[in-house]
Amino acid sequence: ALHNTLLELKGNIRVFCRVRPLLDRGQQQSSFEIQPQDKTIVLVKTEESHIGKEKELHKYPFKFDHVFPPQCSQQQVFSEISLLVQSALDGYNVCSFAYGQTGSGKTYTMEGPDVLAGEEMGMIPRAVQQIFQAACKLREQGWEYQFTASFLEIYNETIRDLLVSNKTPKKMDYEIKRASPTADIRVTNLKYIPVSSEEEVLVLIKLAKQNRSTARTQVNDVSSRSHSVFQLRIEGKNAARDVSCNSILSLVDLAGSERVQKSQSTGDRLKEMKSINASLTNLGLVFSALASKDGFVPYRNCKLTYLLQDCLGGNSKTLMFVNISPEIESFSESLNSLRFASKVN
Ligand code: ADP
Ligand code: MG
Repeated sequence: ALHNTLLELKGNIRVFCRVRPLLDRGQQQSSFEIQPQDKTIVLVKTEESHIGKEKELHKYPFKFDHVFPPQCSQQQVFSEISLLVQSALDGYNVCSFAYGQTGSGKTYTMEGPDVLAGEEMGMIPRAVQQIFQAACKLREQGWEYQFTASFLEIYNETIRDLLVSNKTPKKMDYEIKRASPTADIRVTNLKYIPVSSEEEVLVLIKLAKQNRSTARTQVNDVSSRSHSVFQLRIEGKNAARDVSCNSILSLVDLAGSERVQKSQSTGDRLKEMKSINASLTNLGLVFSALASKDGFVPYRNCKLTYLLQDCLGGNSKTLMFVNISPEIESFSESLNSLRFASKVN
């Protein structure tokens, strides 16, 4: 019950900020100052940059539920979300997003550089590992579980199944739908694969990663401009106690939030940009509607929120990582991301 009280302190949406380390590209100036004991991040503009002409020192303080400075390991980050992940086994729908500009560490946070690379393993494989380990213990108390995994990508409001090889380009009709009033929202024709171990899920995550990057060589880096959604459905039953509990764990790597100069984009790029902006803006609107307990939540305005409707609001638990690059060149985008994130709760 301890984690429930913690989670309910501030509504059901929490926001964590993670600053990635400077990548090794020689001498670079960082534009961040982090006060470690605090939950505050301060961006300091230390020198002239392209956003303003004045050589002023601007300070922009933001406060989040947690701030991870660059040196934080994947393990340290996961330890802050493990209770949330755990609550998926208590019947809560849990949803975690990574928001930020391309290159800020969203995929690193969610998947890690390689899903099977121990130390650097990201949140998806760690969450899966924890769920299976915890389920194993709960089995001793009479619980039985069925797990189902799915992994999709939304690009330009079009769904692609990441568990289907893109070497077999069959045109599929993917429709987001609730089969009956009591059923959960699903995507027609999408693969929902029964899984019974951590290893089985890791194979699927690898497959999805492969399918995502194969497409990248065909159309220049689509992955940074699409949302990827991993879901693990958990159906638990305890026959002895005559109880059951169903939930969905959703882990979402959002499309890059950077704003592309309107004047520079035409055709496909413009269409893409509009579609990304629309869906990220709508996600923000859904969060604010949920936080303000507004009656109307605009789930249906885009595929992403429609798909996740069951997992946002109600008695579900939501977490958003805002990922930030520390380089001074990223200052303006970082500020935008922080502003977006600070409006969420
Ligand atoms: P995004 O998915 O937001 O576009 P990536 O996750 O691909 O960004 O990260 C960009 C680069 O930075 C990658 O080379 C990644 O390995 C590296 N990176 C990101 N976050 C970290 C981190 N916390 N520690 C070490 N390297 C990181
Ligand atoms: Mg990425």
